[in-house]
Amino acid sequence: MRLATEAFVTNAERALQDATLQQALTRLVNNFVPRRLEAMAALGNAEELRTRAREIKAEAIAHLDVYLEQFAARLQQLGGQVHWADDAAEARQIIASLAAQYGVKRVVKGKSMATEEIDLNAFLEQQGYEVLETDLGEYIIQLAGETPSHIIAPAIHKTRQQIAALFHDKLGVPYTEHIPEMTQIARRTLRQHFLQADMGITGVNFAIAETGSIVLVTNEGNGRLSSTLPRLHVAVMGMEKIIPRLADLPVMLKVLTNSATGQKISSYVTLITGPRRATDLDGPEALHVVILDNGRTRLLHEETREALYCLRCGACLNVCPIYQNVGGHAYGWVYPGPIGAVLTPMLVGLDRAAHLPRASTLCGACREACPVKIDLPRLLLHLRHDLVQTRRVSPVERLLFALWAWLMQHPTLYGWALRAAAWLQTPFARQGWLRRLPPPFAGWTQFRDFRAVATRPFRQRWQETLRHEGASGGETRHG
Ligand code: SF4
Repeated sequence: MRLATEAFVTNAERALQDATLQQALTRLVNNFVPRRLEAMAALGNAEELRTRAREIKAEAIAHLDVYLEQFAARLQQLGGQVHWADDAAEARQIIASLAAQYGVKRVVKGKSMATEEIDLNAFLEQQGYEVLETDLGEYIIQLAGETPSHIIAPAIHKTRQQIAALFHDKLGVPYTEHIPEMTQIARRTLRQHFLQADMGITGVNFAIAETGSIVLVTNEGNGRLSSTLPRLHVAVMGMEKIIPRLADLPVMLKVLTNSATGQKISSYVTLITGPRRATDLDGPEALHVVILDNGRTRLLHEETREALYCLRCGACLNVCPIYQNVGGHAYGWVYPGPIGAVLTPMLVGLDRAAHLPRASTLCGACREACPVKIDLPRLLLHLRHDLVQTRRVSPVERLLFALWAWLMQHPTLYGWALRAAAWLQTPFARQGWLRRLPPPFAGWTQFRDFRAVATRPFRQRWQETLRHEGASGGETRHG
């Protein structure tokens, strides 16, 4: 598993200095954020839909075992096969065994975060299979040998010029920055592969327990080609993708597409209900669905389970002031942004991703944007609490907070400490602001200013006000 979460601080600093990335992130924010806001406003009942979508996910996750079993039983009745993978290694092994069983040589893939999570491409390539990403963004980053930097826009960190140079170098085509021409180049290359592939691998946006169907939501149609042209279709789904009923799907689709891209509906919504039947004109001979746990059952605890409501729409990334500045690669794993800062420590362990829950201002923009109203700031605080409880914070920080807590319980000493702080800050305070503090506090003022400690504390001013009002015979206020 490629994991660089421990390097978050270094990665973030590098990202802040990267002018090209900063331009790309500005474009992302200027594009995605207003589109989502306009689309949600145009719905007229966005709040109602978000509440309903949350209720559907809450029901599905509260009865995950029942709905997964129902989905598996229904799909098997239809001729599909279901595999349960406890972790990434087991999922990779299942898929490689299927490839061997069906005599596969070439694999085409639709966009899938679950397969990124289990690092499937590298594994299959090591086994000698040719694997090709067919989503345009994923194809670009595969050519570049990189990982996605955004859940729904994997190559958002790349400029048009970088992609043009990449196509020229890797595909041997004449250099062009003309976007329709570049799209045609990718399309021509990919079409050949679709026709030659023996196995198509996709993710799953929703799995419907009632009907045993899987749902793919794409804008390029590559998911539909990957799932119907090769003779074997393998779909990899995180176990949280389940929804109870077909009737729930319109609600989930509405909140997903409007939140993700500001579209009323994606260009292609594909419902796959079993492999090809005798009367069908096309479709795969075999359909296998791999249901992935990989740490998700650990999240089922009441405190954390709402993280499993996530639809992977990416809206929380686009509005997050941290993501807006450092981009996706800084987070060091497949899930960036606020949901990544929550999911990654929960899935890979807090020890390996201790920086991520702190990578938030807790401004609440993510919660406001989330189509299923996941309380991401609460989850981040929950993880920070775990960090403190399990003593994964620096001894200096622990000491400072212990001292602060003790002072808060001793008001007189607290008042003296504030006066001492006001005196000590004199060399650094300018017009009520601290703009540069010395170590070990330097990090606090590296990118922002701090209000200076008031030279006359509030309690002193309050007492003076009361005395003044008493002397002038005014009304006494009660605060
Ligand atoms: S947490 Fe909410 S906003 Fe973020 S990706 Fe998941 S569903 Fe979308």
